[in-house]
Amino acid sequence: MIEFQHVFKSYGRSKNILADINFRIDNGEFIFVSGPSGAGKSTLLRLIGGLELPSRGSVQVNGHRLDKLPARARPYLRRAVGVVLQDTHLLQDRSALANVLLPLAVVGLEPRIAQARARAAMEKVGLRGKEDLKPVEMSGGEQQRLAIARAIVNRPAILIADEPTANLDADNAKRIMDVLMDFNRVGVTTLIASHDLNLMARYARRTLLIQDGRFSDHPGVLA
Ligand code: ADP
Ligand code: ADP
Repeated sequence: MIEFQHVFKSYGRSKNILADINFRIDNGEFIFVSGPSGAGKSTLLRLIGGLELPSRGSVQVNGHRLDKLPARARPYLRRAVGVVLQDTHLLQDRSALANVLLPLAVVGLEPRIAQARARAAMEKVGLRGKEDLKPVEMSGGEQQRLAIARAIVNRPAILIADEPTANLDADNAKRIMDVLMDFNRVGVTTLIASHDLNLMARYARRTLLIQDGRFSDHPGVLA
C-alpha cells in the first residue's frame, strides 16, 4: 500500500513542484503517472522509492512513514521498492549478470543462490543467454530490461519505472510493457511514469496526472 497525505515537494527555495497531493494505491495495482516534461513525475516516483523526502506531508509505503523512517530501516525500504530510473545507471564495465547480482550482495546471500536468482531474474525479462555481455554490447531495449531485472531481483512488492519505454520503437516498448505486466500479474504493485499518450491509451490503467501544477487521479483511461 502507498499513501500520500498532503504531500508538498520543492527543491531548495524553488516553488512547489508538488502541492497538497493526496492519493492511495492498493497492493497489486498497475498505475501510470503522466504529465508534460518537468511536471514532477520523477519527483513523485522518487518520493515513493525513498530517494527524496517530502518537504511537507506524509508518504507511507507498506504502513511505514518514509519521512519518519530511521536510517537503519532504509535497507528494508530498498528491498520493498524496485526502482528503474530514466538513466539506468548500469555499470558498463561489468557483465549483465554482475549488474543484476549487485543488489543481492547487500543481502548477503550464498553466492550459488545469488547466481541462481540473478539468472532467473534475467530469464524473466527475456535476457537468457546474455549474462556475459556488457551493457554497451546490448540494445537500448535490452539495457532497459536489464535494469528491470536488477530492480526485481530482490523480489520487491512495488516496482517503479521512470519512462521505461522512452527512446524505444513500438516493438521494444511493447516488450518492456509485457515484462512489467508479467510482474504485476504475480502481485507486484507497478507504477510507470510516461508522457506517451498512445501507450497509456493502449493499456488503459488508472492514471495519476500532474499538469500545470495540478494533480488529478483518473480511474481507468485518461479522458
Ligand atoms: P518530470 O519527471 O515530470 O519531467 P521532474 O520530477 O523530473 O519532472 O522535475 C520536476 C521539476 O523539478 C523540474 O522543474 C525539475 O527541473 C525540478 N527538479 C527535479 N529534480 C530536481 C533537483 N534534484 N533539484 C532541483 N530541481 C529539481
Ligand atoms: P524491528 O521492528 O525489529 O526493528 P523490522 O524488520 O520489523 O524489525 O523492521 C525494521 C525497520 O524497517 C522498522 O523500523 C520498519 O519501520 C522498517 N520496515 C520494515 N519493513 C518495511 C517495508 N516493507 N517498507 C518500509 N520500511 C520497512
